[in-house]
Amino acid sequence: MISESVGVNQNGNLTVGGADCVELAKTYGTPLYVFDENLIRKTCREFKSSIDNFYGGNGLVLYASKAFSCKEMYRIVGSEGLGCDVVSGGELYTALAAGFDPENIFFHGNNKTPDELEYALKSGVGRIVADNMTELEIVESLAKSLSVKANVILRIKPGIDAHTHAYISTGQIDSKFGFALENGEAFEATKKALDCDNIELCGFHCHIASQVSETKPFQEAAEVMLQFMADVRDKFGVTVKELDLGGGFGVKYIESDGQIPFSEYMEKTAVTVKAKAEELEFPVPKIFIEPGRSIVAPAGLTLYTVGNVKTIKDVRTYVAIDGGMGDNPRYALYQADYTVEIANKASEPKTFIATVAGKCCESGDLIQENAPMQTPEVGDIMAVLNTGAYCYSMASNYNRIRRAAVVMVKDGQPRVIVKRESYEDIIKNDI
Ligand SMILES: *Cc1c(COP(=O)(O)O)cnc(C)c1O
Repeated sequence: MISESVGVNQNGNLTVGGADCVELAKTYGTPLYVFDENLIRKTCREFKSSIDNFYGGNGLVLYASKAFSCKEMYRIVGSEGLGCDVVSGGELYTALAAGFDPENIFFHGNNKTPDELEYALKSGVGRIVADNMTELEIVESLAKSLSVKANVILRIKPGIDAHTHAYISTGQIDSKFGFALENGEAFEATKKALDCDNIELCGFHCHIASQVSETKPFQEAAEVMLQFMADVRDKFGVTVKELDLGGGFGVKYIESDGQIPFSEYMEKTAVTVKAKAEELEFPVPKIFIEPGRSIVAPAGLTLYTVGNVKTIKDVRTYVAIDGGMGDNPRYALYQADYTVEIANKASEPKTFIATVAGKCCESGDLIQENAPMQTPEVGDIMAVLNTGAYCYSMASNYNRIRRAAVVMVKDGQPRVIVKRESYEDIIKNDI
């Protein structure tokens, strides 16, 4: 199977984390997001032990929580000793409400508002990852008025092409994120941060792209960043101690996707970091990494009920489900690939080809086109696999469809961690 969380039981039903998907659908209704806590924890430990093994523990794994954000998720990653990234006041609020240690929260984003920055500084977040000159000015003036020193990391565009979809590629000069190296912006920002009385410049950050399935772009980015750190030392006489290498490790969504073991990214990048540091006679910095989808995508799936099957002769077959772009907009956004199973027929061969259509009033509301699956019938439970990242977190109420519930399975035992929205929830802010 495409995810190690998923299997087939003696009834021929799909299982996730040992729980029967058909039973889950019956108990909690559909659409339903289901996560396997054991796999989430296992992946957290894999990343954490890589930091221990390859950097002697001098580093921290930050879960990029935009991939899947809710209180229970912050509790789980926090209990595994990870920090986290947040990119908005709402994510910060959720993390703090879950009791997350603010010291281990990094605040990202290309347009943090003054209110959000004030909230972050007052909460005592560990680092603010500054994106632009205006932000540096706002942070300096807020920190001054709050009489605090803001710990800042600067986001740098290292100019690496990571061969992924343009919408999830962030490392090149025309990206909206961060300071470019090529045109001197990164040095200007460094000078500005160093000149600010209430900013402590802790280090630099890069995040080249998402869903990268090669190690080379990460190694190249690490080299470029270390070179920049050495250049900063030579130019300004300041040796910063922290290097945040971002996330973006690719996962398998369909059988033909390549997937490199996460420890391999870590090992190869560590070898590069250490070699480059030695060459530049630069002390090996404290390393941060920011995996998002790699921690949650393979640990989650979505269950739907098939409402109708519409065969348009010589054209295609649509299988209509009771969810769609409201709970998973990723196919509509960037034609994301997914693997589809009929959960109550999981031991049958996947000989049927169909397009999975959502229930929203948009022709583009598709979950997958031309997907192989077991022969679908009305009332079947459909599972779309590896939807743990960027689905619940991107969910909307389009068509006033209620957001789905989230169930966490641990050792075969399910529990609700996010309730299904009610109709009352839908109108709660309407006056
Ligand atoms: C989105 C993001 C990540 C995580 O990316 P994944 O592909 O989910 O691993 C990490 N760091 C930053 C700054 C991001 O914007």
